[in-house]
Amino acid sequence: MALLQNHIAVVTGAASGIGRAIASGYAREGARVVLLDVNDKAASEVAKEIRDGSGKADSFALDVTRREDCVAVARQIADKVGQVSILVNNAGIARRNGMLGAREAVISDWEDIIAINLTGVFNVTHAFLPPLRANKGRIVNIGSIQSFVHLKTPSSPAYTASKHGVLGFTKALAAELGKDGVRVNAIGPGFIETPLNEKVRAANPGLVQVFMDHTPLGRAGKPEDIVGPAIFLASDLSSYVSGSIVMVDGGYRTI
Ligand code: NAP
Repeated sequence: MALLQNHIAVVTGAASGIGRAIASGYAREGARVVLLDVNDKAASEVAKEIRDGSGKADSFALDVTRREDCVAVARQIADKVGQVSILVNNAGIARRNGMLGAREAVISDWEDIIAINLTGVFNVTHAFLPPLRANKGRIVNIGSIQSFVHLKTPSSPAYTASKHGVLGFTKALAAELGKDGVRVNAIGPGFIETPLNEKVRAANPGLVQVFMDHTPLGRAGKPEDIVGPAIFLASDLSSYVSGSIVMVDGGYRTI
C-alpha cells in the first residue's frame, strides 16, 4: 500500500523547488495534496500536473505572512477538501546580505525573512492545529544547514536566525503536541538547486564552490533528494520520531 494513503497533506510554497517536489512525491504515495503558494497561478499549474499524472491535488493562493488569510484558507480546505493530517511548512525566501550593508536594506531583509520563514511557519501551523490534533497529524518544517551554522556558509543573520527559529519551534511544538499524538520534525537541506538560488549559481560560482568544499558527497542536491526524507517523516515509517531534524545535506554538517 502507498505510504500516505488516506492522508490530506498541505504544502506551503508548493509552486516551486523543494515544495513542488514534496507535493508531487506525496501525491505519488497516495496523499491528497493541497498546494499553497503566494504564486497561485504556478501552484494551480503544479496541481494540474499532479492530477494529469492521476494524483489528487488542489491549490489555493496563500501568503503565509497574512495570519487571517491562513485561518481563512484552513477553513476553506476543511470545507472543500477535508481534514488535514500532514502539514509541510516549506515556503521561504533567502537573501545573503550581512549586517553591515545599508541600514534600510538590512532592516527590510530582517523583516521580510523573519515574516516569511519564521512567523509564516507559526501562522500556518496555528491555523491548521485543530485538524492536525484531531488526526494525530504530522508536521514537517523545512529548516536548513543554517539551523546550525553560519561561519563557513555565506548567509545573512536574518536567514540564519529564521532557520534556527524553525528548529526551536519544531522542538517546542514536538514537546507540547506529543500528548495528542502529533509528531513534529524538521528537514535540514544543504545546497539544493532550485529557483531560490538560480541567480546566485549563475553569477557566483565561487559561492557554490564554498558549499561543495564542505559537502562530502561532492555535489549539489536536487529537490527530489528531499522527497524520500519528507515521505519518511510524514508516514508511519517514522512513528516514534518527533522533535528531530533530518539533515539532507550531502554530509555538510559532518565536516
Ligand atoms: P523556491 O524554489 O524559491 O520556492 C519557494 C516557494 O515559496 C516559491 O513558490 C515562492 O513564491 C513561495 N513563497 C515565497 N514567499 C511566500 C509567502 N510569503 N507565502 C507563500 N509562499 C511563498 O525555494 P526552495 O529552494 O524550494 O526553498 C523552499 C524552502 O527550503 C525554503 O524554506 C528555503 O529556505 C528552504 N531551503 C532551501 C535550500 C536550497 O538550497 N534551495 C536550502 C535549505 C533550505 P515566489 O517564487 O513567487 O516568491
